[in-house]
Amino acid sequence: MSYTYVIEDIENLPRFREFTCPVCGHVQKTYVLLIQTQCENCQERLKLRGLASIGSEIEDVIDAVLIWLGEREELELALKWKQMLDQDEDTYAHPK
Ligand SMILES: [Zn+2]
Repeated sequence: MSYTYVIEDIENLPRFREFTCPVCGHVQKTYVLLIQTQCENCQERLKLRGLASIGSEIEDVIDAVLIWLGEREELELALKWKQMLDQDEDTYAHPK
């Protein structure tokens, strides 16, 4: 199995999503990983993820990765690795 599409989906996922409140029509932005949020105009609670009836979303993959990163020393190692990735994307980036 190739993970190419998963990697591309993650790379193309914006960090914020714009949505329209179905109750009042107010348009706002929110962090893309949030499952629920509240309309800043009418205070309605809105579900933003898990709307597909079958399967998972790319946000679920990111959640799995974040959980996999662990805590304490494991998370510190992951963050050090991220710094290396951020500093030298050409060296550590996956081949396209
Ligand atoms: Zn609203």
